[in-house]
Amino acid sequence: MAAFLRGSRSVLQKPNRHVDLMLVFCRTMASKTPVGFIGLGNMGTPMAKNLLKNGYPVIATDAFPESCKELQDSGAQILDSPAEVAEKADRIITMLPSSPNVIEVYTGSNGILKKIKKGTLLIDSSTIDPAVSKEMAVAAEKMGAVFMDAPVSGGVGAASLAKLTFLVGGVEEEFNAAQELLTCMGANVVYCGQVGSGQAAKICNIMLLAIGMIGTAETMNLGIRLGLDPKLLAKILNMSSGRCWSSDSYNPVPSVMEGVPSANNYQGGFSTTLMAKDLGLAQNTATNTRTPVLLGSLAHQVYRTMCARGYANKDFSSIFQFLREEEGQ
Ligand code: NAD
Repeated sequence: MAAFLRGSRSVLQKPNRHVDLMLVFCRTMASKTPVGFIGLGNMGTPMAKNLLKNGYPVIATDAFPESCKELQDSGAQILDSPAEVAEKADRIITMLPSSPNVIEVYTGSNGILKKIKKGTLLIDSSTIDPAVSKEMAVAAEKMGAVFMDAPVSGGVGAASLAKLTFLVGGVEEEFNAAQELLTCMGANVVYCGQVGSGQAAKICNIMLLAIGMIGTAETMNLGIRLGLDPKLLAKILNMSSGRCWSSDSYNPVPSVMEGVPSANNYQGGFSTTLMAKDLGLAQNTATNTRTPVLLGSLAHQVYRTMCARGYANKDFSSIFQFLREEEGQ
C-alpha cells in the first residue's frame, strides 16, 4: 500500500520506465501466492524450506536436478528453468554462487527476464559484485519489475534455523514487501540504502572477518610456539582487547572450542573458496574506487593461495592449519 501511495523511485530516472505501480500493489497484497526460488544449494535449500514452513507455496529450479530433490520432497514444485519460474511467480528469490551465475539466471536465454511478469519483485541473496546488482536492477526495471539485493550474513546453520541476517539494497518503498519474505528466513533484515548497498555492506563485513580470522590464527600460533596452552590463551584474548568473533565464537585452533569447524577437521562452515571469492569482490570494488585496502588485499592473496594448496573445500578457519603446514616446510 505504502509503495502505491508514495510511488516507487526508479533506478533508471526516466518516467516512461517506471515500474507499473498498480501491479506492484497487487503483488504486495497477495501475501501467500507462490514464491519462486532459484539456486537450491547449501544455503538455498534450507532457506526455501523455511518459506514452505511459513505457508508459502514454493516454485523452484536449479541447474542440477539432483539439487532439487530435497526441496521437492518438502513440498515445492520444481520447474525446468528460471524463465518458467518467472512465468508462475511474481516474487522470486535467487541464491546463486557468483556474479556470472546471477547474470545467466536473470538475463540468459532461459532467464527470469525472458518471461517476467510486470510488477514482479526480484530478491537476489547471492553475494556478488554490487555493480552487477545495479545492472540487474536496471534490466529488471526495463521489464517493469523491481530488483533488490539482499545478501546474507550467517552460514548453513543460520539458514536452517531461519537466523540469517539480510542486508537489503534497493528502492526503499519496496522494503516492506521484501521483508515479509525475508523474515521467514532470517532473524535480522536491515535496509542498507540504494540497490547494491546490501552487497557493499556484505563485502565490508566479510573483509574484516577474513582479516580478523588470519590475525587470530597467527596470534594463536605464536602463543602456542611460545609455550602457552591454546585454551588459556584463547581465554586471555577473550577477556582482553584482542577479543574478536574469530577468537571467541569461531576459534580456528582445534580443541579450543566445540561445535565449530576447527573441532571437526574444518568440515562444514564457510568454505575457503567462497571466502576467496568474496575477498575478490572487496578487492575489485576497492580498486575501482581507488580505496586502499592493504590487509584486505593480503587476505585475498592468502585465501587464494590456500585454494591452490588443497584447502578450497575446507572452512576458512583452516588458515590455522595452513600456517602450521607452512611452518613445517
Ligand atoms: P552452492 O554452490 O551450494 O549453491 C548454489 C546453487 O546454485 C547450486 O545448487 C547450483 O547448482 C545453483 N546454480 C548455479 N548456477 C545456476 C543456474 N544458472 N541456474 C540455476 N541454478 C544454478 O552455494 P551456497 O553455499 O548455497 O551459496 C550461495 C550464495 O550465498 C553464494 O553467493 C555465497 O557466497 C553466499 N553465502 C554462502 C554462505 C555459506 O556458508 N555457504 C554464507 C553466506 C553467504
